[in-house]
Amino acid sequence: MIRKILIANRGEIACRVIKTARKLGILTVAVYSDADSHALHVSMADEAIHIGGSASKDSYLVADRIINAAKKLNVDAIHPGYGFLSENAAFATACADNNIIFIGPPPAAITAMGSKSAAKQIMASAGVPLVPGYHGDEQAERVLKAAADEMGYPVLLKAAAGGGGKGMRQVWKAEDFSAALAAAKREAIASFGDDVMLVEKYLTQPRHVEFQIFCDSLGNGVYLFERDCSVQRRHQKVIEEAPAPGMGDNLRKTMGEAALKAAQAINYVGAGTVEFLLDRDGSFYFMEMNTRLQVEHPVTEMITGEDLVAWQIQVANGEPLPKLQDDLSYSGHAFEARIYAEDPENDFLPATGKLNLLQPPAENRHVRVDTGVLEGDSVSVYYDPMIAKLVVWDTDRDKALARLRRALRSYHIDGVTTNIEFLYTLASNRAFHEAKLITTFIEKHQDELF
Ligand code: ADP
Repeated sequence: MIRKILIANRGEIACRVIKTARKLGILTVAVYSDADSHALHVSMADEAIHIGGSASKDSYLVADRIINAAKKLNVDAIHPGYGFLSENAAFATACADNNIIFIGPPPAAITAMGSKSAAKQIMASAGVPLVPGYHGDEQAERVLKAAADEMGYPVLLKAAAGGGGKGMRQVWKAEDFSAALAAAKREAIASFGDDVMLVEKYLTQPRHVEFQIFCDSLGNGVYLFERDCSVQRRHQKVIEEAPAPGMGDNLRKTMGEAALKAAQAINYVGAGTVEFLLDRDGSFYFMEMNTRLQVEHPVTEMITGEDLVAWQIQVANGEPLPKLQDDLSYSGHAFEARIYAEDPENDFLPATGKLNLLQPPAENRHVRVDTGVLEGDSVSVYYDPMIAKLVVWDTDRDKALARLRRALRSYHIDGVTTNIEFLYTLASNRAFHEAKLITTFIEKHQDELF
């Protein structure tokens, strides 16, 4: 039985996990770096322990320090949040070796999905549809180029170890292949220390639709419907919503079952997200599986009424899933807008400074604000500059969108430059209102958005 959880993370997700743990009567331990000694997650937890310097590599990424902290304070389980060590199989293994429950999937499932190319090979044999492409081990330029020439341009080069949109390059014609490959490899080495590449057919107008799945250790699995995360900037999500507009029940069922098949192919346990590209003709293709709780999980919680962190804890305890597929349903529509300290007028450069004024909209049944900061806190250079996630719900998409606009209008921050105005412009855009969602939405409508 889990009685005490250490949260190996910071910011809003650490606070989010603490909230549910508290509700379940579970004690919590926060870990913190030098820069975070006065952070909200530290004051919210029952206990807190310092784990090192401000840079993540000196604290939140140091597995040994976190394991030692967990042992010292006698915790039963570690929740990794997202980012940092959440998809690190060695860390999950180290937890098990020290008799600590890792609130996440088994290490082998993390490893299976850790490489985009290995993941695609597994999915291909499980019969999950893939974007046509080359996912092989042979990496000579002539092999990769031959694959591109054969599938026809445009193609997308992707780092097998990639994440966060890094190490990706579009190639529109054969002459550009060589230079794009060199650039993608350079970025992949710099970001991941690994330059193994995939070549994929580049879909020009797809949507990003992902399914929330959940499996327990007794063999049950469900999907908690989908999220549309098409609105992205440099392949990073900006506004997410659930359900995906226009998704019919048949397609939802087909894609949800494919997502579960993907999870079952790697004996998955816990919360996971299977990301697909959905083409205009209704064909869909497996892109990758994230083996953790996703940033945008609240939109799923808003439409289903389920607490996904509570589900994670129950599953980690070895209990069955709280609900099976036929017991699950959703209602209404939810949006999440990511409030960032960044400057949309200066190429979205991350901003830092002190939050002299921090006045989020009032929370109620329709509005939820997940944050890890308080007025007077600083946004530093050390971590992801997300200030909060603004989540709204209403009975249909139009009403929810109107709520999003109103909530953004009453979100006031001073002292740090934010993207709130940009998000408001986006939420007021006609094509967005009409749900003409494609992954290149922001690029396509830039004249109206900037
Ligand atoms: P990362 O792990 O770096 O986020 P993903 O493989 O998840 O990379 O892709 C991120 C985004 O890139 C997708 O949401 C989509 O917008 C775009 N993308 C990925 N693959 C393709 C493709 N084959 N064709 C068109 N767009 C793609």
